[in-house]
Amino acid sequence: MSACCRSLVVLSAVAMLGGACRSTDATRATTVASGGEDNSMSGDRNEGREGWHELTPAEAAVIEEGGTERAFTGKYWDHHADGTYVCKRCGAPLFASDTKFDSGTGWPSFDDALPGAVREVSDWGRTEIVCAKCGAHLGHVFRGERMTERNTRHCVNSASLDFQPTGAEAAPAKEARADAYFAGGCFWGVEHLLEGQPGVIDVVSGYMGGHLDQPGYKQVSSGTTGHAETVHVVYDPTKTTYEALAKRFFEIHDPTERGHQGPDYGPQYRSAIFVTDAEQRRVIEGLIAKLRARGYDVVTEVEPAGKFWPAEEYHQDYYERSGKEPYCHIYTPRFGD
Ligand SMILES: [Zn+2]
Repeated sequence: MSACCRSLVVLSAVAMLGGACRSTDATRATTVASGGEDNSMSGDRNEGREGWHELTPAEAAVIEEGGTERAFTGKYWDHHADGTYVCKRCGAPLFASDTKFDSGTGWPSFDDALPGAVREVSDWGRTEIVCAKCGAHLGHVFRGERMTERNTRHCVNSASLDFQPTGAEAAPAKEARADAYFAGGCFWGVEHLLEGQPGVIDVVSGYMGGHLDQPGYKQVSSGTTGHAETVHVVYDPTKTTYEALAKRFFEIHDPTERGHQGPDYGPQYRSAIFVTDAEQRRVIEGLIAKLRARGYDVVTEVEPAGKFWPAEEYHQDYYERSGKEPYCHIYTPRFGD
């Protein structure tokens, strides 16, 4: 560790003593969530995973950890449209809507799967079902319950599924989506102040820019993984522009603070924008030039977007859930328009 980093740690400790930071909640939650697991392995995690969809922590808990969502809470248990249910992770078609029936269990239930779509795995007296293509956990299959003529119930988590409607419904389903990645200090505040902007579909807190696979909050907080606390903004480009969102970002954090944002010190709190293509870079460089012309000594780093790792569930929508207000992010007009 360099002398520079050491001083950052000291400054960070001072900021915590000042009571400005998120010490209590975050520390407690970290203890619960991290469970001492070792995320330091790297390797072939991404091999054969091209085209897989990014999972929220709740989806990953089901699809990757074999968890079960609570009955009557999923998106599809009471869903009756015509179409095909596909794997949430890899998109493979799994169940046709005409095999879906109302089992009263609170989970989507199908009395048949599409040919070859589902693989059965023995699971302590029950039979687990997984996506035959990618191995995603789907749920369990039960036979002999006499609920339908086929006498079979594929009991599936909604979290493992996506739905593709057939016919006329299919046309408008393809909504316009584009991505933006911003890092400007504690992601709770950045997420909070970007949510609800016109055209914003979703904002997820997470980590980007580091060298460790599946980083956890504790590891990123050490300041040694290279990640920045980053938000992934999904927006509708027919309703807003990348430039409008980037302008907003420059006005809800202080792009002149180097090595910290407000009371949060360390490289994980750096001001950075992760661009996905040359056009995004052009937009950002234009905005930075405008701010410099207005006297702001902008230190925001423009970095190529890498893999985005969603943060632990307890970091998502933090301010909405806690009812608190951001401690270090406030809207401040900087462009003079
Ligand atoms: Zn799959």
